[in-house]
Amino acid sequence: MPITRTATSYYGLTYVEHAERDFREMIDHGCTTVILAVTEFDVDFWYPNIPRIVEAAKKLGLHVLIDPWGIGKYFGGEQVSLFLQNNTENRQVSAFTGEKLNAACFNTPSFRDYFRRTCLKLAKCGADGFFWDEPHYALPKAYASITGGAGEDWACRCPVCQREFERYFGYPMPKLMTDDVKVFRWREAMKVLEDTSRAIKELDRKQEITCCVHATINSYYVCEQRGYDDWDAVAACPWFDVFSTTIINWDLPMAFFESITRRTVEAARKHGKQSERWLMGYYKQPQDFAQIDQVVDLYQRLGVDRIASWTYRGGYGTSVGAPDALKLWDGIGASYRRVLGR
Ligand SMILES: [Zn+2]
Repeated sequence: MPITRTATSYYGLTYVEHAERDFREMIDHGCTTVILAVTEFDVDFWYPNIPRIVEAAKKLGLHVLIDPWGIGKYFGGEQVSLFLQNNTENRQVSAFTGEKLNAACFNTPSFRDYFRRTCLKLAKCGADGFFWDEPHYALPKAYASITGGAGEDWACRCPVCQREFERYFGYPMPKLMTDDVKVFRWREAMKVLEDTSRAIKELDRKQEITCCVHATINSYYVCEQRGYDDWDAVAACPWFDVFSTTIINWDLPMAFFESITRRTVEAARKHGKQSERWLMGYYKQPQDFAQIDQVVDLYQRLGVDRIASWTYRGGYGTSVGAPDALKLWDGIGASYRRVLGR
């Protein structure tokens, strides 16, 4: 099957008429799908315009997905979190130091309720579905070093996680990341997404859900331990429709692109899901812009169903814009049109 969907993400959730003009530009750049990066501030402040913006995108023929971007700093993204601003508790806690971290603990009833309520509110905006964007535990990441020692700090060891762990395993939660701790973290990480995904589909069966996890090696030696490292378990979730793995820096070798993509397609197909791969459309750009076509061709050849890039106009005007943001945006647009035969 050829690539059928080409997406870009979009931050501009303010005025409908401005967004509409940008949506036309996306269509000119070969995009079939827009992923709306909705911040907690947008939900709180711009909510009346969100359904209108969704409607404008759909009228122009775009497939519209909502990304609850960086919510609680549980998902990826640069946005700030109202949940963290308005709550002093329910944060992830460092296992080694006991300090509260600047990320919500998604295993607490408080955050789970907030997340579900926010998504159910957004599910009434008329979009086609949701995009779970790099969900993760705050720590660690340094595990992704083949030469690194064991013993980096990890999260979450908050009172709620400790209580749940002990209830399940029958002994106090260790401060070391043992196998039981790993199993606990994986299971809880899936639970929060499963609960909300199920609630969304109960509200509207047509809502489509993509789960996008970090594109990491996750081999015997190297694992980031962010909570979604077992791709097979993530792709198996019955509430997800699309299994996606996130952006790879253009500077990494093509063999890495290939290995991540093969494993992504394999995990998705095994569970009857569509697969999605990303292009880095912000911050960095390829040394040679011909690499865009090469990566898109690789994705096509390996059987990827959907491709996406972060973000509209290469992040032009933001602190994470690519050096030649508009040129990158045009390059990705040309590749999108080519792969769609437009
Ligand atoms: Zn916790």
